[in-house]
Amino acid sequence: MAQDRKRQMPNILITGTPGTGKTTTSSALADAAQLRHVAIGDLVKEKNLHDGWDDELQCYIINEDLVCDELEDLMEEGGIIVDHHGCDFFPERWFDRVVVLQTENSILYDRLTKRGYEGAKLSNNIECEIFQILLEEANESYQENIVVALRSDTVDDVARNVETLADWVKNWHPVS
Ligand code: ADP
Ligand code: MN
Repeated sequence: MAQDRKRQMPNILITGTPGTGKTTTSSALADAAQLRHVAIGDLVKEKNLHDGWDDELQCYIINEDLVCDELEDLMEEGGIIVDHHGCDFFPERWFDRVVVLQTENSILYDRLTKRGYEGAKLSNNIECEIFQILLEEANESYQENIVVALRSDTVDDVARNVETLADWVKNWHPVS
């Protein structure tokens, strides 16, 4: 157990397939619960925590060790929402809650095409959602009792998820 935790505020990981609403949800939750939102993609770009650009996947090749080193002190302090479409390379001890957002396929398809995704990038992400890859990754990487899957199809879902998570934050207490 993480009995040696020093943080006074919990850390939350918000994960899910691209387009499921991680950034929307994280930023609303950061406001509602006074937490700090860290979008890994932005951090990687800002601080150059990558090993170049992947032309085929059209994204930076994240250097996971650099990302973890960069975040260690912040995570120890607590009160952080990490927003990322992967979850298996962060230290397990960082998180008190792991949220996997899920979206119905046709809704996700529309969101991703609106974002300009097409071809393999589009179909890979739709498949990722169909096969619940992120939920499986979360369940393999974290204790089952801290992982929660939340539906993110509508704006009402976002509001409800933010409310539920903000309540959870309010009732969270450090391990004494
Ligand atoms: P992610 O960070 O997971 O890639 P975003 O938060 O950027 O997803 O959301 C992608 C797009 O879908 C945005 O235009 C956002 O407004 C919209 N969106 C996200 N979640 C929902 C939802 N639950 N209901 C309606 N629209 C949503
Ligand atoms: Mn995002």
